[in-house]
Amino acid sequence: MKVRIFDTTLRDGEQTPGIALTPDQKLAIAQKLDELGVDAIEAGFPIISDGEKKAVKEIAHAGLRAEVCGLARTEKKDIDAAVDSGLKYIHTFIATSDIHLKYKLNLTREQAVTKAVEAVEYAKSRGLQVEFSAEDATRTDREFLKKVFRAVTDAGTDRIDIPDTVGYSTPQYIAAITKDTIDATHLPVSVHCHNDFGLAVANAISGIQAGAQCAHVTINGIGERAGNASLEEFVMALQCLQFDNKFETNINSKLLYETSRYVSKVVGVQVQPNKAIVGENAFGHESGIHTHGVLNNPLTYEPISPELVGRTRWFQVGKHAGAHGISAMLEEYGIQPSKEQTHEILEQVKKLGDQGKHVTDVELLSITGEVMHQEGLRRLVHLTGFSVSTGMGNMPYAFVKLNIEGKDFIGTDYGVGPVDASINAIQKITGEISKVRIKEYKLDSISGGSEALCEVTIKVEDSYGNQASAKSIGEDIVITSVQAMIDGINRIMLKKILKQKNLGL
Ligand code: MN
Repeated sequence: MKVRIFDTTLRDGEQTPGIALTPDQKLAIAQKLDELGVDAIEAGFPIISDGEKKAVKEIAHAGLRAEVCGLARTEKKDIDAAVDSGLKYIHTFIATSDIHLKYKLNLTREQAVTKAVEAVEYAKSRGLQVEFSAEDATRTDREFLKKVFRAVTDAGTDRIDIPDTVGYSTPQYIAAITKDTIDATHLPVSVHCHNDFGLAVANAISGIQAGAQCAHVTINGIGERAGNASLEEFVMALQCLQFDNKFETNINSKLLYETSRYVSKVVGVQVQPNKAIVGENAFGHESGIHTHGVLNNPLTYEPISPELVGRTRWFQVGKHAGAHGISAMLEEYGIQPSKEQTHEILEQVKKLGDQGKHVTDVELLSITGEVMHQEGLRRLVHLTGFSVSTGMGNMPYAFVKLNIEGKDFIGTDYGVGPVDASINAIQKITGEISKVRIKEYKLDSISGGSEALCEVTIKVEDSYGNQASAKSIGEDIVITSVQAMIDGINRIMLKKILKQKNLGL
């Protein structure tokens, strides 16, 4: 069965405390969602502001493949604002639980039904496709909810949505009222689940199993309070877990990670590391037992292949790592220590771990260098020219010349300061050739005074999710930053080339 994905990142997601998007940002996210393959995009709530109306209008006219929808209360002016924004599809709602009727709307149940019916009739008379939500449906009297849904069906609504507005439902209850609703209306039904008890995805899946055709979801599960059902978790669970029926969606799962990162960056809400599917650690391994298993057969400790969601697995060195893990990590850089050397490296890693220290690939490579008495890594990237100008009145400007595997590249860019300008110029080059971007930048002063030594640590990431860290120490903040950046790029390119070689590419 094909499940319809109604994405509300731009409406419920934007109602996350602290998030406000410009019309341009909303349009850019809508385009990403369209590429991802969502069936419908709830672009916003046109009545709330001029900017919101403008954003919805632009999205409605962007020529997207997805249907574009806007939110409207059961008020004429809200529906008119949706029509003015160029929408052909609205999501209209009125609360139906006694607590909302009494304390928010000050309406009787009968008055609420009348308002709902009038709004649906008005929207249909304006030529709109209508999806009707009974807000707080899961805390609404079960018989009254059926009555509301039957009334709006008679008024001509095209779709019914069941919102679990405060995340109050259990999977069993949402299944029961989904069945009620289908029996009462024979219309396509959606479920809109919130995550107040961490059950949003489970509830959405339960609704689908009970016959709903659609779920309202958001990227990274953002949304009011604890958020909405997360698109990536919902889609992958439908695709990969065992059900009596086979479920499919139009989502291109390989774009999930990229889309998640994009939305996180634009809205400024970080994804928790242990989040399913898109969290930093979702395909990371540290324990020696797990690493050993995954190296022999990834299915031992990974339910799905990371490539399926556009990611790569990674191994973390640390005190739980075994010899297998250490060898696998060094192999990524083309380093093959002997058995004795591996053992010695592992002992040093464990010692650092027991001291509570986090061992990154920077430390691992430096330990390995000492143990193996080697000069270091193969150099693919050389800095062959560099200058930066800074001062008052002009924006800092950098010129960078790199030689990458024998070929020369030149990059120039501006920045808020000389370090930013230099890194932007480098990213212009590496962005083109391998889509490397900087993920973390940290500057520490090692000693005091204006001649102090500084230490720059950076983490870079390519578009496949490969990551590498590098550290550089020096007297000049700009040059030290550039050196760390170049080392990081060298490492990530080395990883990528060796990986392609191993795959026989
Ligand atoms: Mn909601």
